[in-house]
Amino acid sequence: MSIEVSHLVKRFSGGSAALNDVSFTIQEGEMIGFLGPSGSGKTTLLRLIAGLDKQNAGEIRIRGQVIDHLSPQKRGVGFVFQNYALFKHMSVFENIAFGLRVQKQRPAEIKARVHDLLDLVHLPGLEHRYPNQLSGGQAQRVALARALAPKPSILLLDEPFAAIDTKIRRELRKWVRQVHDEIGITSIFVTHDQEEALEIADRVLVMHQGRVEQLGTPQEVYDAPKSLFVADFVGEANQFVGVVQSGKFALGPFALDASAKQDGQEVRAIIRPADVRLTTVSSAHDVVGKVIRASYKGNFYGVDVRLTDTVQIQAYVDRKQRDLLIPGQRVAISIQSYRLFD
Ligand code: ADP
Ligand code: MG
Repeated sequence: MSIEVSHLVKRFSGGSAALNDVSFTIQEGEMIGFLGPSGSGKTTLLRLIAGLDKQNAGEIRIRGQVIDHLSPQKRGVGFVFQNYALFKHMSVFENIAFGLRVQKQRPAEIKARVHDLLDLVHLPGLEHRYPNQLSGGQAQRVALARALAPKPSILLLDEPFAAIDTKIRRELRKWVRQVHDEIGITSIFVTHDQEEALEIADRVLVMHQGRVEQLGTPQEVYDAPKSLFVADFVGEANQFVGVVQSGKFALGPFALDASAKQDGQEVRAIIRPADVRLTTVSSAHDVVGKVIRASYKGNFYGVDVRLTDTVQIQAYVDRKQRDLLIPGQRVAISIQSYRLFD
């Protein structure tokens, strides 16, 4: 086990708990995504692991050792933050060499290590530049090289590419995953972007209001969310509220089985757009809806369909099925899968 967090509590004066009884375990070599909305406690949790702040209760172990009394430098962690600006008055070389000079390594060793790191982050030849001569993506790659220079066993990344344009951000996160695999480190990648977390992480820790909602593989949190919050926050979801009657949940023309819930209970149904199937109307038994609008999503379309005057649902449709994309068109609709939450 690389990192064990148990019953961590963090309160800032005046506020409610930023972290409230947080426990989880990260395995050696894993890349974990901390995913949650702004204010859910991601940065606070990362800062406690890094040793930049101290918890009010609970314990953190790294490789079995309680590290709560250790300074950040002694924990073997490297970190990169969104706004963790480089030292402006130092060249790229000196920025990366910083931690090595602190460790009093010999100049020849430092030079070799910095050049290895510049290769690793794909910035060879840029050692004489200054931070103001770098793009945002380059600066964050230098920040990563600086974090990795002292060979930490754990790498902490707090929304490192949040300020960078979408296309470059996508490239950078793919690349950061490759670096993680290449050097065999344990990493935590904080993001509020579910697409980013699902793409990059081996497992995702979903946070909400200072608590862990779920820790699981991207597939687990997407396909088997443990709470309404996770179901709604991770991935696209149609959400409907209703009261169970005779073991059924009425959704327009559909009566979804709700026999696991009490009659009279208010529940929420979560239906992924990918689990809503549209076809051309072919039989009198088809449940029929009307296409309102199709929005382009790359390889497929998100199609909003009106079921009744008050019920509307989104389906994903392959872009080749043009006859299902026309506003006003009547389409047959079926629900392949859904989840009910209290
Ligand atoms: P996230 O990184 O998920 O956006 P944070 O960990 O930054 O969330 O914040 C969690 C909660 O703790 C928020 O309510 C925030 O306002 C509060 N908080 C964070 N840092 C401080 C601080 N230094 N002083 C007071 N409150 C703070
Ligand atoms: Mg944050």
